[in-house]
Order: sequence, then structure tokens, then C-alpha cells
Amino acid sequence: MNKIFEQFVGLFEAENHKLNLCKFEGRKEFFARHIMDSLECAQFFSNAKKVLDLGTGGGLPGLVLAIQRPDIQFTLVDSINKKCTSVQEMVKTLALKNVIVKCARAEDLAHDPIYREKFDMVIARAVAPLPTLLELGSGFVRRGGVFIAYKGPKYAEELPTAKNAMAITNFDLEKIHHYRLSGLDIPFTLLLFTKNRPLNSNYPRQNGLPSKKPL
Ligand code: SAH
Repeated sequence: MNKIFEQFVGLFEAENHKLNLCKFEGRKEFFARHIMDSLECAQFFSNAKKVLDLGTGGGLPGLVLAIQRPDIQFTLVDSINKKCTSVQEMVKTLALKNVIVKCARAEDLAHDPIYREKFDMVIARAVAPLPTLLELGSGFVRRGGVFIAYKGPKYAEELPTAKNAMAITNFDLEKIHHYRLSGLDIPFTLLLFTKNRPLNSNYPRQNGLPSKKPL
């Protein structure tokens, strides 16, 4: 493990005690399960300059990717204040210059002209079912940009439920990327969507509708 990732894992472990962000079964296991998983989408960044991590929690995958790619500007969004404070502390300790932490609900932030459809790429891991995720994500992805959803083996059941959401949010499924993580017998999947047209200004809907009444 290289030094800065080692430092990140130590910081994450300390924050995890306070916030209970995820199961922590040891540093080596955390590296294999969470760091390697976070890094999996970096191969699709091509020439992205601005990336938004939707529902970053304790900084996964966005902070890990920001460590690896100092040339890309990362915006890490979460609605829970204490998680954002923790992530901001980690950013400061790691002296990362390419990270902005924003505490907000995605359905509100995506209507702010500074954030609306401004990102080359939006990524989300373990945040919501696909129809909800696409509605929230489309608010941030620029036309021609890409949305990447981290999904497990159940992606095949989830994809058909997202047909309507894809049509409304103007996403086309571009690629299904399968991968494995060492020591784990589970197939993991990244779903890549490209955005073909701007999002109608009524979306994402507010007042929790993207999750309460998914498209
Ligand atoms: N991506 C992290 C965290 C997953 S937990 C990981 O892989 O470990 C999901 C996170 O998404 C939570 O921290 C939650 O606060 C955040 N979240 C869920 N819905 C959100 C919304 N509408 N806007 C902003 N953050 C949201």
C-alpha cells in the first residue's frame, strides 16, 4: 500500500469509530475491499477535468480517486453534516488541493447553476436504487458527460427497472464493466451511462421525490 493511501486508511478508521461509516475488518481488508473498489472507475476518466461523487459518505470512492488523480477536480457531496466535516478534515490532513466537500441534498444542489450539468463525470457507490440515482445524477452531468454507478451482482435485476428513468433523464447505457476484487467471491459491476441531451428543468424533483416516488 503506498504511503498516502496508508494514511487515508488510518484516518478513515479513526473517523469510522465515530461515525460508523462501514464495516472495518482490518486495514488490509479495507484496502482490498474499498480502496481497490474505489479505484476501479479511474480507467474510464479519459480526459475528465471535473468529477462529482454523489453520496460520498466517508469519502468513498471520491476521496480515494482524488488521491490518485491530483490533476482532476473532485466535488464530494453528501447530505449528512458530520460525514462532510469528517471528510473535510481528511482532505486537510492529507493536504489535497483538488477536493471540494459540499454538504447538501443532491436534489437541491442540482438546481444551483454553479453545479447544474457542470461535471464531466458523476460517480456514486452504494447510494440508491438506479432510478433514483439516475435522476439525481443527471442534474450534475454535463451534456456528453458520463455517469458511473457502482453496483453488485444484482445489477441485472435493477437495470430493467431504470428504463423510464433513463428516458426521462436522457441517459443511454454505454457499458457494463464487470470486475473482481481480490479475496472476494462476488462479481462487481460498474454501469456507465452517457448523457445525450440536457435535463428538463423540473428534474431532479425535490422534497425527496426521487427516492419516495422513483421514475
Ligand atoms: N459512497 C459511500 C457512502 C454510501 S452510504 C460508500 O460507498 O461508502 C450513502 C450516502 O449517500 C450516505 O452518506 C447518505 O447521506 C448519502 N445520500 C443519500 N441520498 C443523498 C442525497 N439525496 N443527497 C446527498 N447525499 C445523499
